[in-house]
Amino acid sequence: MEWMVEQVSRVNGAVNYRVIDEDTAIVADVKRDYEGEDALAIARLIAAAPTLLAALKDITPTMPPMNATCHVGMTTQDKCAHCRRIAAALAAIAKAAGL
Ligand SMILES: [Zn+2]
Repeated sequence: MEWMVEQVSRVNGAVNYRVIDEDTAIVADVKRDYEGEDALAIARLIAAAPTLLAALKDITPTMPPMNATCHVGMTTQDKCAHCRRIAAALAAIAKAAGL
C-alpha cells in the first residue's frame, strides 16, 4: 500500500492537501485555514501511516501483559524502560487497529 500527498488548492494563504492511494483514490483531504506547513505535515504523516505501521509491527515483539516479568527477568515490565517502550508500540498498533 503506497499513499502519496498532492497539493489540491491554495486559497488566501491556506494550502490544502490530499492523500491518495496508488489508484489515485482519495484517502484523506487535509484542509487548514492557515499557513500550509501544518497541513502538509499532517498529510505526510497520513501518507506514511501504512509504512509506519508495517515497520512498527516488524520491529515490535509481542509481550505478556504489564507487570509480568521484564524481558531480562530482573524486574517487572512497568519498571523497565525497554518494556515500557514495547508496550507503547503495542498500544499504538492496537490504536491503529481500532482496538
Ligand atoms: Zn524489560
